[in-house]
Amino acid sequence: MIEYWDPLIERMPVDELKAIQEEKLKSLVHYVYNHSPFYKKRFDEAGISPNDIQSLDDLRKLPFTTKQDLRDTYPTGMFCVPREQVVRYHASSGTTGKPTVVGYTENDIKEWTTSLARALTSIGIGRDDVVQVGYGYGLFTGGLGLHYGVEMVGASAIPSSSGNTERQIELMQDLGSTAMACTPSYFLYVNEVTKKLGISIADDTKLKCGIFGAEPWSEEMRRRIEEQTGIKAYDIFGTSEISGPLFTECTYQDGIHIWADQFLIEVIDPETGEQLADGERGELVVTTLAKEALPLIRYRIGDLTIIRSGPCRCGRTHPRIMRILGRTDDMLIVRGINVFPGQVEAVLMDIPEVAEHYQLVVDREKELDTLRVQVEVTRDVFSDKISDLMVLEKKVTKALQTVLNISARVELVEPGTIPRSMGKAQRVIDNRNI
Ligand code: ADP
Ligand code: ZN
Repeated sequence: MIEYWDPLIERMPVDELKAIQEEKLKSLVHYVYNHSPFYKKRFDEAGISPNDIQSLDDLRKLPFTTKQDLRDTYPTGMFCVPREQVVRYHASSGTTGKPTVVGYTENDIKEWTTSLARALTSIGIGRDDVVQVGYGYGLFTGGLGLHYGVEMVGASAIPSSSGNTERQIELMQDLGSTAMACTPSYFLYVNEVTKKLGISIADDTKLKCGIFGAEPWSEEMRRRIEEQTGIKAYDIFGTSEISGPLFTECTYQDGIHIWADQFLIEVIDPETGEQLADGERGELVVTTLAKEALPLIRYRIGDLTIIRSGPCRCGRTHPRIMRILGRTDDMLIVRGINVFPGQVEAVLMDIPEVAEHYQLVVDREKELDTLRVQVEVTRDVFSDKISDLMVLEKKVTKALQTVLNISARVELVEPGTIPRSMGKAQRVIDNRNI
């Protein structure tokens, strides 16, 4: 039987959801115009008055907002409430530059937690579960965000945060964790340490699922994690600007449900800013319909994805986004060919002899960009003859060339060589900017 946190909302007919969105959008534009000098100026400059927004179609008339706007108004210039109403601050991880500050009213925290309660319920987490939260606690939204969601659904939270991996594994066994929330790359490390300790996640723990996100990962990586550990690996998405981790896949693992009564999503062509149709890949743009402290209008998140609005087998009517390919600015251009690290991961993970740890190194030699793909091989493969390793190296090079059309120098390295990550993995080292 499929469980819902809020069946009425989660299975609401699409036209009713749209009516809710329209009402919320109409009041949102008045709210931001009247409460934030930033938005008033932005609307005035664009020649838009809140009264011009009468339907969901009018959304496209509104100007975009970007991370740069949050940086320009650092720390709280885009907030719509006075400091007394802010009950919490967080900050982004600063993956792409100066970190931005976000804030929440009491109600914002409630909405955020509700979103996660729906999501966790959709992957079968409830009163019987013990969830180990291995996302960082602190300024990063991952730890505290998940924590509140776990408590709301009545499961037990273990706020283990990231790092201290042997202790994490001990707690996992002693307290019987049934789920672990962390970055997929950290989970790979946890699995590795577990094996070193002679413990098997499949046989010696109660873990049944992982809630993995905060960084791009591929279907192929999911398959490997699931096969090696016997757990279900679910994708979770969010960014600090829209509150933090908010949305997950359901048990059908066919896209991440975005709660339409709280968020309005679009996908646009990153070059022209034009809205794209359902099923077309582009940049995700989010308008927050329920946030008070820091509502965002048409915020360009920068992540590339596809929206699918059709019904899901789970009965939820809210639209789904497909696996994130990466951010627009994650894209490497190597000798004119566009490549996302996630695509390289997908190719690598399809080759059984290579392990899950890899790194892309980009250099510029004599005006020419070069890409090196360093990837660990399994212990067995590494002890093979040099000639076997060379054959494998050729196989990987050819697969990258055939599938992605990139010529990369492949370097097979010993297990344990590539740095392990406790949070977001750094998969690309670009030496061109230094
Ligand atoms: P930042 O990393 O920008 O400083 P955040 O810590 O809020 O800020 O991270 C949010 C970003 O992390 C997203 O915009 C996206 O690029 C990435 N991310 C989060 N979850 C996922 C996911 N499930 N798949 C791919 N990327 C993700
Ligand atoms: Zn579903």
